[in-house]
Amino acid sequence: SEMNVTCIGCGVMIQTVDKEGIGYAPPSSLEKEQVICQRCFRLKHYNEVQDVALTDDDFLKILNGLGQVDALIVKVVDIVDFNGSFLNGLHRFVGKNPVLLIGNKSDILPKSVKPNKLINWMKYEAKQLGLKPVDVLLCSAEKGHHITEALATIEKYRKGRDVYIVGCTNVGKSTFINRIIKEVTGEGDVITTSQFPGTTLDMIEIPLDDGQAIIDTPGIINRDQMAHVVNKKDLKHVMPRKEMKPKIFQLNEEQSLFIGGLARFDYISGGRKSFTCYFSNELELHRTKLEKADDLYDRHRGEMLSPPRLEDLESFPELVRHEFSIKDEKMDVVFSGLGWITINEPGAKIAAYAPKGVSVLIRKSLI
Ligand code: GDP
Repeated sequence: SEMNVTCIGCGVMIQTVDKEGIGYAPPSSLEKEQVICQRCFRLKHYNEVQDVALTDDDFLKILNGLGQVDALIVKVVDIVDFNGSFLNGLHRFVGKNPVLLIGNKSDILPKSVKPNKLINWMKYEAKQLGLKPVDVLLCSAEKGHHITEALATIEKYRKGRDVYIVGCTNVGKSTFINRIIKEVTGEGDVITTSQFPGTTLDMIEIPLDDGQAIIDTPGIINRDQMAHVVNKKDLKHVMPRKEMKPKIFQLNEEQSLFIGGLARFDYISGGRKSFTCYFSNELELHRTKLEKADDLYDRHRGEMLSPPRLEDLESFPELVRHEFSIKDEKMDVVFSGLGWITINEPGAKIAAYAPKGVSVLIRKSLI
């Protein structure tokens, strides 16, 4: 049934019949003054901590638009912040369009990591998150690694169609696009911009030989990350930027690790075990007894335990504790946007602390 009610998020016409269809909202929502379609509702909730600017009309229109074009969608994620940069739920917006998943910043992972193993891991994780990409690739946009391969793969799957590049901010999408521009157009060729139907944003279009184009969509801000709780000056030390040097700790029960003053890891029980820490090489890790950890944090954050700096303590969110019992071997405890700790052996009870608003999750070990 057609009604003249539109979604306050994306402007789509609301319908209450086809649950999978565009513009669906449950019938009860029509009683409200402002109706939001199910897709926008979900987006809002997957990005819970994001501010209003994010769920703005243009952004949602672009996402909704992706389901209405016939194109190849290239989704770029940051391989060192895979879950944080994944854009959960994007697959719901792309309709039938194929998604090519590209893990960028491969240069940051230790050289010992086998690319094929990592690609299989990405396929598995993507599937867990509801996405079945047509293919999965790794590249380093900054170093220019595997860019030619990425372009060849794009060519293979686009089958004469346009290509939309999507990703959240900081995944290196601009760096990737700039590489592509060089490869596709050579110097001096004109890059055009075009309006996506119904939006006010200009998007960069890289023309292709057959009249189609590679289109760069705006980066989606993801607030569920460290990047939003640390000061800009510290961010470059906090975010891994160069090849990570993993640090291995043999921990006894009731020992704690501080990751600077940004996060904390308590090993509660499970006997002596080894833990491998993957963080920016510039972050200092401090080991202490669990029973002393609260006190140490109270007395030394901003100094020995930094970042954050002393002057930023007031605005720095409190650490929130997340407890986990981990049965399997080789599981990662991920601090979104900061790094992760691999618990190498099975059967550990741990607690992970991250600043309020920064998510913590458990996953199968990436390495
Ligand atoms: P965007 O917000 O997704 O457009 O990301 P940018 O292209 O602006 O990159 C964000 C940050 O990641 C910048 O500091 C880049 O230098 C860095 N970066 C981008 N690609 C890579 C990469 O392949 N490897 C490494 N180590 N850093 C990268």
